[in-house]
Amino acid sequence: MAPLLEIKGLKTHFATDDGMVQAVDGVDITLQKGETLCVVGESGCGKTVTAMSILKLIAMPPGRIVAGQIMFEGRDLVPLTSRELDDVRAKDIGFIFQEPMTSLNPVLTVGEQIAESLRRHEGLSHKHALARTVEMLKLVQIPNAAARVHDYPHQFSGGMRQRVMIAMALACKPKLVIADEPTTALDVTIQAQILDLLQDMKDRFGMAVMLITHAMGVVAETAQRVVVMYAGKVVEEADVESLFDSPRHPYTQGLIRSIPRIDLDAAHKTRLEAIGGSVPILINPAPGCRFAPRCRFAFGRCAEQEPVLREVAPGHRMACHLGDTQGGTP
Ligand code: SF4
Repeated sequence: MAPLLEIKGLKTHFATDDGMVQAVDGVDITLQKGETLCVVGESGCGKTVTAMSILKLIAMPPGRIVAGQIMFEGRDLVPLTSRELDDVRAKDIGFIFQEPMTSLNPVLTVGEQIAESLRRHEGLSHKHALARTVEMLKLVQIPNAAARVHDYPHQFSGGMRQRVMIAMALACKPKLVIADEPTTALDVTIQAQILDLLQDMKDRFGMAVMLITHAMGVVAETAQRVVVMYAGKVVEEADVESLFDSPRHPYTQGLIRSIPRIDLDAAHKTRLEAIGGSVPILINPAPGCRFAPRCRFAFGRCAEQEPVLREVAPGHRMACHLGDTQGGTP
């Protein structure tokens, strides 16, 4: 089956006064129809830039896609103009942002904003678009939706605004929804409600979801497949069970060791550990493995040769020299 989305060799760089930041540097990601894929990593690993590159939502300049293809239903989105991409945005690919207040227009009612997308992409009349908008607000569990459709974004709480954002992203029933840290700005109890809502909407509409997160707990709850990014590159990719049961890359192992595991019995529980150090600045990165300065297993070859993604089990890939007999074991 042809994938819904296939990102191939994507490089998105940013020009700064100090040099070119290689924020995304040769990323390959594939997403099947109806699948939930989590892209996980610390802040600064390139996951948001990857997601925003799909619809060219990064500021250009200083950002620029310097290489790669973003194939959506077999069509490369990279060469499209902003006007051509407008037809893809909302209609085929919906986007849920981390902080809805920055993406909702504060001077328009939420109803006007959602209805506008329905009028534009589905050619609905004002009356029908407004009726569909009320339906969507009900679906995302906004109480008293028929009245609240006339309210402005600032009249909603943070959690309710994120529900409105989900309604807006899904109004045209896109085939793919990209959610960039959709719960980060919310209280813990509201976070769980929003993730449940997203799952409910996915089941109802059958769309694929690309969820960007730094939280392994969210990954465990929601993902079918997981891509782990570090310093602008994919370092591991697997289905969610394999990733948590047998993480191969030292960075993934570190991420998993840093979260509490209530699924393990007492004999298998270990102390929580943080990964020492921080993500490198991606201007002229050093040769070799970008994780080497933080890696407890680093050996000679790691500082010289960049590891490439290779299959270590069916459907499980990682980029690390450990166990790679091709270039000599440590
Ligand atoms: Fe660690 Fe070397 Fe593997 Fe990089 S390639 S993660 S430094 S062992």
